[in-house]
Amino acid sequence: MSEIKKSQFPPWIKTHLGGGAKFNKTAKILDDLGLQTICTNANCPNQGECWSRGTATVLILGNICTRNCPFCAVGHGKPLPPDPDEPGKVAEMTRRLEVKYLVITSVDRDDLADGGASQFRSVVAACRTRDAKMRFELLVPDFWKCQDAALEILDDVLPFVFGHNVETVPELYKTARPGGNYQRSLDLLRKAKVKWPEIPTKSSLMLGLGETDGQVLAVLKDLREAGCDRVSLGQYLRPSRDALEVVDFVTPEKFDWWAEKAKEAGFNWVMSSPFTRSSYHADE
Ligand code: SF4
Repeated sequence: MSEIKKSQFPPWIKTHLGGGAKFNKTAKILDDLGLQTICTNANCPNQGECWSRGTATVLILGNICTRNCPFCAVGHGKPLPPDPDEPGKVAEMTRRLEVKYLVITSVDRDDLADGGASQFRSVVAACRTRDAKMRFELLVPDFWKCQDAALEILDDVLPFVFGHNVETVPELYKTARPGGNYQRSLDLLRKAKVKWPEIPTKSSLMLGLGETDGQVLAVLKDLREAGCDRVSLGQYLRPSRDALEVVDFVTPEKFDWWAEKAKEAGFNWVMSSPFTRSSYHADE
C-alpha cells in the first residue's frame, strides 16, 4: 500500500499542538533530569495535550529496546545497564511536577534476568518515599521467561494498576509484533489477576492495522477471560517513516461502538477514541 500523506488524513485526525507554560515546564524538568518518556520516544500525538496538563509517561530502563516491533518508533539494539540514579530522578520529577498519578513503562529488557522488574520496584519505592499517597500505573513488558519472578518482585510495591498491552489481534503478531506472543501476554495478565485479585489489570489495542471486527471481539473476550478489568482502544498512527503503514482509519463513531462492545464484554473501565493511548487520561 502506498504511504498515507498527512493531507489524506481524515478530518478527525488532528494532532494536539503543544505549548504554554505548563508544557514548557514539563519539557524542562524532564530534560534537566535526563529522563525519557514514551511520549517523545513513540512520537505520541497527545504530547501537546498531556504535557500541558503536566502529565507524562516515564520510560524507564533506557530507550533502547531488545525487540524491534514495526509499529513502534522506539529504538532497538543493545541497551545500557539500568541507571541506579533513575529512581531518584523520577521521584524528583514527580516532586517538581506535583504529580499524584504516574504511569511508568519501559522498553523490553530481555537482556535482564528479571526483565527490569526490580527497576520498576525501585522507581515506585523512591516516589513513595517522597509522597506515600502517590498512585501508579505500571505498563510492563511481557517479562518473557521471568513472569513469575517479575510479579514476585512487584509484589513488594503494591498497590498499582497493572497494565500490559496486547497491542493488536493475534493474527497480526507476525507483522506487527514479531517478538511478542499473544498467549504469553494473556498469561501475564492472567497471572497478575490470580496473584492480586484486587489490583485492576489493563490492556490496550491499536486499531487500523488491518484487523477485522471479529478478531477484535475475540481479543476482548480473551482479555476478559484472563481477568482483565480495563481496556483502551485507539487508532494506530504511523510514528515514523520506517514503521508499518496505517491500513485504515476507524471513525470516531466506530470507536464509540467499540466502547459499547467493551462494556458489554464486562470491562469496568473503557477508553476508546482515535487518540486514545494506553496512558491517555489514565488518571481519570
Ligand atoms: S497519551 Fe501517554 S504517551 Fe501519549 S503523550 Fe499522553 S502520557 Fe505521553
